[in-house]
Amino acid sequence: TRALTKRFTSSKGLFGRSVSVSAVNDVSLDIRRGETFSIVGESGCGKSTLARLLVRLLPASEGAVLYEGNDISSLSEPEMRRLRKDLQFVFQDPFSSLNPRMTVGALIEEPMKVHTSLSRKERRLKVADLLTKVGLRAAFANRYPHEFSGGQRQRIGIARALASGPKVIVGDEPVSALDVSVQAQVINLLEDLKAEFDLTLVLIAHDLAVIRHMSDRIAVMYLGEIVELAPNDPLYDKPLHPYTQALMRAIPIASPHGRSMDVSLTGDVPSPLAPPSGCRFHPRCPHATSLCGTEKPALAEAADARMVACHHWEKIAENSQGSVREPP
Ligand code: SF4
Ligand code: MG
Repeated sequence: TRALTKRFTSSKGLFGRSVSVSAVNDVSLDIRRGETFSIVGESGCGKSTLARLLVRLLPASEGAVLYEGNDISSLSEPEMRRLRKDLQFVFQDPFSSLNPRMTVGALIEEPMKVHTSLSRKERRLKVADLLTKVGLRAAFANRYPHEFSGGQRQRIGIARALASGPKVIVGDEPVSALDVSVQAQVINLLEDLKAEFDLTLVLIAHDLAVIRHMSDRIAVMYLGEIVELAPNDPLYDKPLHPYTQALMRAIPIASPHGRSMDVSLTGDVPSPLAPPSGCRFHPRCPHATSLCGTEKPALAEAADARMVACHHWEKIAENSQGSVREPP
């Protein structure tokens, strides 16, 4: 294909048949080929729902997800099969997504049976190759998922996701169930594989620390909406939205004095069943004015190819005089 960008747009998801909850509300974004695009927010902000919408694990109620120019909700069966081949999903808990009665080899081979015309022998060779590529031993093919650690199981999940020869991998908090020491290894692995297999990565994360160095662009979600969208460095250097600023201050800072994290983000996330009027962040925002309670700020262009949804971002940026992060 000659398309240089992948365009995903999804809007207004209303989920649940008995209760109507707007988990993802009027979200529009473009994900570009070859980039690492991260979606960050607290639990319940709709980021996992958005991830599932992107790969049609969930149907959108309104709006569209475009993949290479086609709305994925109206694909024919053969087109759908191609979509499944191209767009793979890595789940948060690798164990729950893997059938415990299948060997590791069979699990990784399964998508090849569906999506490729490889012979049995070729598939076996590819399983061995993928296991090595994700940093495991080829002989692990004959063993079962429960014999492995969380980090190893996530590597197996990643090998399985790679088996169909995908173009895009969407990871829903792929490392958040793992020990901190293992998280970095798996993140590094994803970065290496992205380069080797020419992948587009979409990563869902609940804090900004995990994806700190690896994203090209980051979307920050709050209560089903994107409140800020920015390239990696500008976002970390100078977050514009008060919610992003609060998330940034919640990143633990290692210091010789053992200072604990600044818990500036107080209060629970309001229920998506009854989202606050106006700016959805206004009950928790230190900069809220009466305008914020009544009028919803649009996600609008700010400086340097950034987008922010806040009535007062310019004034807030002026007053913060550069980085809002405290020095380590
Ligand atoms: Fe805070 Fe108002 Fe900006 Fe919302 S619009 S983030 S309440 S200042
Ligand atoms: Mg989630």
